[in-house]
Amino acid sequence: MMHFYCSQCEKNYPIGGLDYQCECGGLFQLYKEKDEKITATVSLGEVQTPVIKRKLQGKEIYLKLDYMQPTGSFKDRGAFAVINKLKELGITEVVEDSSGNAGAAFAGYCAAAGIKCNIYLPESTSLGKIKQINAYKANVVRVPGTRDDTAKAILKAAQTTYYASHVYNPLFFEGTKSLAYEIYEQIGIPNYIVVPAGNGTMLLGVYKGFKEIGQLPRIIVVQSKNCAPIFKKFKNQPVGKMKQTVAEGIAIQEPKRINEMIDAINDSKGDIIAVDDDQVTKAQEMLGEMGIYVEVTSGAAVAGMLEYFKDGHDDKLNIVVPLTGMGLKK
Ligand SMILES: [Zn+2]
Repeated sequence: MMHFYCSQCEKNYPIGGLDYQCECGGLFQLYKEKDEKITATVSLGEVQTPVIKRKLQGKEIYLKLDYMQPTGSFKDRGAFAVINKLKELGITEVVEDSSGNAGAAFAGYCAAAGIKCNIYLPESTSLGKIKQINAYKANVVRVPGTRDDTAKAILKAAQTTYYASHVYNPLFFEGTKSLAYEIYEQIGIPNYIVVPAGNGTMLLGVYKGFKEIGQLPRIIVVQSKNCAPIFKKFKNQPVGKMKQTVAEGIAIQEPKRINEMIDAINDSKGDIIAVDDDQVTKAQEMLGEMGIYVEVTSGAAVAGMLEYFKDGHDDKLNIVVPLTGMGLKK
């Protein structure tokens, strides 16, 4: 039977319980039988997102338009898996702490499932940013003080209400792994996949999926130079001070699953690259000029691809760049 287990001490935990990590501090992984599937009763009309071939600065690549999911980002893959499982388990209320695409995805799927959704956000979060979450009628809890205060508040709330976290809850990665299966179906195993990473929800999902399929593409991870803890750790560089970046969807100072992410990059014989804000914005504009409107953070993956292959590459190589979020959100 499907359950969580601790990645450190291997202690088992039920999926529907209030524990979001092990008492030893270890993060959860998901155990499931080979044929065990999540029963899907909640749907917002998920699609197999299109793959289109384009030439960018002379480089032919596949763009996977993953922003074409119901709430406008790839995070729907994760929320779909988590919320369907919670619905099956009879959970009626959840808490979550993302003002971005993950928050919107959870709010949307909770609305569809009839699960009460509380989103904890720093008081300073702009109203524009939570417009979509409000539309889904999620309860937005604005916490006074800093981001740390919000983190404290959500952990306190998680003592009594289910924490549907896109970081702690391994069901989320179980959902995002469908991206790998789709790419496999559409173009086979690519040589490279270039993914932006903050908390690693796409990176770890893609890794997990291709691992199950049995062959890994090289995973090239992209971070913002202004906030690049994974890049720094991978390259053995001091972390230094983090700054603001336009790629706010991947600006995570202390990603919980950083070691898992580094293992995934190494296992895939991949690499990591950091790009500056100017490159990210230019890449977003370049996509716009082609008729593709994505949020700024999505530009990071394209910017990373252009930087990584700046000296050219073998035309026979298949390179996939997923586009994570749509531009209409803000
Ligand atoms: Zn443990």
